[in-house]
Amino acid sequence: AKSQGKNRYVVYTSDMYHSSMEKLKLETDLRNALIHDELVLHYQPQVCNHSGELLGVEALLRWNHPTMGMIYPDKFIWLAEETGLIVEIGKWVISEACMQNKKWQKDGYKPMKMSVNLSSEQFFRASLVGFVKNVLQETGLAPSNLVLEITESMAMDFEYSLNVLRKLKRLGVCISIDDFGKGYSSLNYLKKFPIDSLKIDKSFVRDILKDDDDVNIVKAIITLAHNLGLRVIAEGVERKEQLELLKSYDCDEIQGYLFSKPISAETFESRYSSLLSD
Ligand code: C2E
Ligand code: CA
Ligand code: CA
Ligand code: CA
Repeated sequence: AKSQGKNRYVVYTSDMYHSSMEKLKLETDLRNALIHDELVLHYQPQVCNHSGELLGVEALLRWNHPTMGMIYPDKFIWLAEETGLIVEIGKWVISEACMQNKKWQKDGYKPMKMSVNLSSEQFFRASLVGFVKNVLQETGLAPSNLVLEITESMAMDFEYSLNVLRKLKRLGVCISIDDFGKGYSSLNYLKKFPIDSLKIDKSFVRDILKDDDDVNIVKAIITLAHNLGLRVIAEGVERKEQLELLKSYDCDEIQGYLFSKPISAETFESRYSSLLSD
């Protein structure tokens, strides 16, 4: 590279060249992933904390890369967001999740909720509400069986978000605040946004057996949610002792490795075939 000053040479190390090439390759691969059908959803059960009954699943994206194998969202969602590919990917996720949920109902499973993660890039697109509406119409899924998980960051543009959420609510879908407590946003939106549930981030659940501060945060979130008429879901529950504690705090739903890791649709079907009505 030609330099404008000698500092410039310091910036472009061979390492960075290497990683920007890698990034470019990953970006090209990600564009192809959609075309070549390499994206898959895995589903993680959410169960009632009191009865143990299966209430729903969260759809979690995976990428079956042709040479690198299974890639987890933490490794590519950021790139999808940076490149805008998340919009197409996000649409695929919503329709795939709704189709799958409807298919399970047709197969004879009791209707359950399907939670889908929305990235803020998706949320701040004017086309979101119309897209969701179309998918619900095309799949015939009952709107109340779709939960859209948004994050506190979507409260940043308060008026805009309120407007979008009201429209989504009018469609009949459920809204959940994901990773609750992890952001830095004020709690003001809780009064105004039409939301149904809060998800306690796994970083708070992880240490509730040994850290009193986490215990107090988790208890406070549950009390806050219930006082506002919202349901609470704890994620990242790995141990029986965590479950017992969360039961004693009256947390409504549990999601975590204790019950199940995220699993493919096929695994879901073989594991839960006993729930089929015929
Ligand atoms: P998240 O929405 O907070 O999802 C929960 C994450 O915690 C998932 O990781 C899940 O596999 C993991 N998890 C669940 N139970 C346990 C547990 O007991 N222990 C531990 N250690 N982990 C547990 P995953 O699937 O790797 O997804 C990571 C993040 O990627 C998600 O965090 C979500 O923010 C994002 N993501 C996943 N799928 C999508 C998608 O379709 N669209 C968008 N925009 N983001 C997605
Ligand atoms: Ca989530
Ligand atoms: Ca999330
Ligand atoms: Ca989380």
